[in-house]
Amino acid sequence: MAGEKPLDFAREITNRLGGETITRCYQCGTCASTCPVARTTERYNPRQIIRLALLGQRDEVLKGDSIWLCASCYNCQERCPQKVEIADVIYALRNIAIREGNIPAIYTEFAAGLMSEGRLAPISKFLEKKRADYGLPPLKPTGMEAVKKILAATGFDKVMFKKEGASQ
Ligand code: SF4
Ligand code: SF4
Repeated sequence: MAGEKPLDFAREITNRLGGETITRCYQCGTCASTCPVARTTERYNPRQIIRLALLGQRDEVLKGDSIWLCASCYNCQERCPQKVEIADVIYALRNIAIREGNIPAIYTEFAAGLMSEGRLAPISKFLEKKRADYGLPPLKPTGMEAVKKILAATGFDKVMFKKEGASQ
């Protein structure tokens, strides 16, 4: 945001559930060296995300795709010598990104499926046939009323509305 100082973004993160511990990081790199995703791709490095966030690089952190690559395995969190709750910090960053309409397309597709059918992915005829081939019973319809209530109670449906508005 224009005129924002690095500390403003750090404060915003620490005020979020899960983000409280980010300022304890002293950049030792233990998280990156134990992260299975970082071992797989150079596009992801938890130490770097924390560094950028603490430097106030808001757009780079929130508008890029790297915060969405964390697999939430908590390997890093168990090993951080500073007890930074890294996976939870990543969740806090995702929540800020979502609030601002920065949601990767794949997540909006999952969310749309959840809102319309109560499932993340539609059940195709092909899958139905495969289930039958394996002797599995047909899937029961989802309890859409309950799903809708949960989505409304958590504000999830409004997040989706915001995303649709942001893309216009
Ligand atoms: S292990 Fe902890 S202190 Fe070290 S870089 Fe990662 S978050 Fe920072
Ligand atoms: S929780 Fe995320 S950042 Fe931490 S080790 Fe697992 S994938 Fe990497």
